[in-house]
Amino acid sequence: MPETQTFSIAVLAGDGIGPEITPPCIEIINSACQKVGNVSLEYEHIDAGAAYYQKTGESIPEASLEKCRKADAILLAAMGLPSIRYPNGTEIAPQLELRELLGLYAGVRPIKTIPGLPGKPLADPRAETLDVVLIRESTEGLFAGRGHTKIENDEKAIDTMTITRPVCERLFDFAFKLGSERKAKGKSGRVSCIDKANVLGGFAFFRKIFDERAQAFPGLTADHVYVDAAGLNLVKRPWDFDVMVTENMFGDILSDVGAALMGGMGFAPSADIGDENAVFQPCHGSAPDIAGQLKANPTAMFLSGAMMLDWLGSTKGSEGCRQAAALIEQAVNAAFADGGLIPYELGGNAGTKEISEAVIANI
Ligand code: ATP
Repeated sequence: MPETQTFSIAVLAGDGIGPEITPPCIEIINSACQKVGNVSLEYEHIDAGAAYYQKTGESIPEASLEKCRKADAILLAAMGLPSIRYPNGTEIAPQLELRELLGLYAGVRPIKTIPGLPGKPLADPRAETLDVVLIRESTEGLFAGRGHTKIENDEKAIDTMTITRPVCERLFDFAFKLGSERKAKGKSGRVSCIDKANVLGGFAFFRKIFDERAQAFPGLTADHVYVDAAGLNLVKRPWDFDVMVTENMFGDILSDVGAALMGGMGFAPSADIGDENAVFQPCHGSAPDIAGQLKANPTAMFLSGAMMLDWLGSTKGSEGCRQAAALIEQAVNAAFADGGLIPYELGGNAGTKEISEAVIANI
C-alpha cells in the first residue's frame, strides 16, 4: 500500500449559498479520497466575504490571505452580496483580490456537458457530450480598472484595460500546453484566441503575443475569433471549439454562455491557476435570491472540488488525487445519467440535499 499523502486546503465558504454547498462538497471529496485510500486532505476554514465585511470592516484579513497562500490549494464557494458594498458602490469580492494577489492568471472554465441531463439548450446530439475549455485571463484586462474609475464632473466615466506581456505569455503557454495535452487524448488541438483586435489596440497586442507563443506549438491549430463571433458560435456550434483563451471581461461573459450550454450556473466549475497557488470555485456567485432555501445546485461546487484534486494530482504528483477527481466526475455523471434527478434551476425539485445524496451514493 503506498504511503498516504496529505494536503492542506484553505476553505472559504463565503456568502449566500456558499455555506450550503461547501459541507456536502467536503463530504464528497473525503469519501472519494477514502475510497482511493492513499490520500487525505486537511481543511482550514477561513472567514471572508460580504457578510464578514459587514461585521468587521474587512473583506478578508491579511492573515487569512497568508493562510491561503501557504495552503496546497484553495477551495472557495461564493462571495459577495448585492446589498453589501464598498463606499464606492462596488461589491465585496475577495475572490478577485485573491486572483490578483496570488497571480492566478489562468481561469480555467470547462464547458463539459453531463450526458442524460435534461434541460440543456441545444438539441443537437453533439451538445450531449460537449467538451470545450475556456481560459479566462483572471488578473488584468478590463477588471484591472476596478477601483480606479475616473468620473469627470458627473459627465464622463473612464475605465482602463491593462494587458501585459508577461501575463499574456504565461496565459498563452498555459492554453497551448492544455491544447497539446488534450490533443494527445484525441481532441482537435485547436486553440482559439478570442479578442476584439479589430477595434482596440490592447486586443491587437494580446493577439500579437498569442501568435508569437503559437510558434512554439506547431502541432496545434492556433486561430483567432472576434468575441462577438465567438458568442454566436458558442451558441450555434460549440463543438467546433477545443481550447478558447480570452481576456478577463470577455471570459467572464463567455463563461456564463458556457454554463448555459451545460444546463445552468449550478453545473459550471472553475479553477483559477497561477504558478504557485490555485483557487477552485464554481463559476456562479452567491445566488442571494435562493440562499437559505437549500435549492442551490451543488454540482458546480463538487466538480470544482474534482478539478482541485486533479490539479493536486498533476502538480504534486499524487495519483490518489487524480483517481479521487475522476471518481467524483463519474459519480456526478452517474447521478444525473437517467434524467430523473432534476435540480430546481432546471424546473425540477432536486435541491442541495437530494443532489448531494445522489452523488455520494455513486461514489
Ligand atoms: P457574480 O457576479 O458574483 O458571479 P451573479 O450576479 O452572476 O454573481 P449568481 O449569484 O451567479 O449571480 O446568480 C445568477 C442566477 O443564477 C441567480 O438567479 C441564481 O439563483 C442562479 N444560480 C447561481 N448559482 C446557482 C446554483 N448553484 N444553483 C441554482 N441556481 C443558481
